[in-house]
Amino acid sequence: MAEEHIPVMVQEVLHYLNCREEGIYVDATVGDGGHAAAICSRLKEPGLLIGLDWDDAALERAARRLAPFAGRFRLLRRSYTELEAVLWELGVSRVDGILMDLGVSTLQLSDPARGFSYRQDERLDMRMDRRLETDAARLVNELPEASLARIILRYGEERWARRIAAGIVAHREKEGPIQSGAELAEIVKRAIPAPARRRGGHPARRTFQALRIAVNRELENIESFLPQAVASLAPGGRICVIAYHSLEDRIVKRFFREHSRSCSCPRGFPCTCGGDGELLLLTRKAVRPAAEEIARNPRARSALLRAAERRVLKREEGA
Ligand code: SAH
Repeated sequence: MAEEHIPVMVQEVLHYLNCREEGIYVDATVGDGGHAAAICSRLKEPGLLIGLDWDDAALERAARRLAPFAGRFRLLRRSYTELEAVLWELGVSRVDGILMDLGVSTLQLSDPARGFSYRQDERLDMRMDRRLETDAARLVNELPEASLARIILRYGEERWARRIAAGIVAHREKEGPIQSGAELAEIVKRAIPAPARRRGGHPARRTFQALRIAVNRELENIESFLPQAVASLAPGGRICVIAYHSLEDRIVKRFFREHSRSCSCPRGFPCTCGGDGELLLLTRKAVRPAAEEIARNPRARSALLRAAERRVLKREEGA
């Protein structure tokens, strides 16, 4: 059976983006085109969806899924960190909505050749964009122990980070380079004390998350994207971000909060006072998927959605 990536919180995304038929939308992580198809189905000429992804295989799948909407979308193999440059190149000055659905797509995870999984004997890779120079095997085989420990602690929030880093270094010194996900998973498992292994899912989950974030520079990329996204939104345009763990969500939450800060409106939430902050928060707390969606789609389990609208600033009114 051909596997398909099931998009997360589609109804919520459509609700928060509030798509206009003739609007211009960006899907910054178009992946397999699940959300993009839902957005395209709301558009009419000259409405347009601009879909970005840096993974060539994902873009091919997106192109197939979006084929029925020919003329309503453009797909580009670019990192979302280049958002402003991409829009400039397309001659688009402002957009009406931006979606960023973070994490890894189901097909990236399940393709053994991509080396994301702790169950596979394939080379430990984890690059979402295969043009990136450094893959996960290189990190585990070449980084000094202290750097590995720091990555695993910071990006995996793994309390056993130092023991795991020591286990990795001891293994590579004795047995030679670590090749596969399965091999690394076994080393991680052995480094964690037995009682702790039984808690919190697979014992290597946090270490693998940490390496994936480091290989793809995921947190730096989100930091660089958010200001570009806000600057690209037309007044009244919306941004919607789905994060899958607290490290990602914290960045989004802080950014949204800082950019809506100057409003201390007494009129309640969501406020419409038109204060000086660029953003109006549409979600006070992160929105979670309904229980039935989680039952249907395990990837939805950890999803955290936040949305905001670009305010019409006083100085822009009538401009
Ligand atoms: N919403 C999509 C799934 C997205 S999965 C759907 O419904 O099908 C996340 C996608 O983000 C992956 O395809 C990954 O390659 C992409 N991605 C992650 N970081 C990126 C970056 N910096 N630039 C562009 N795409 C990125």
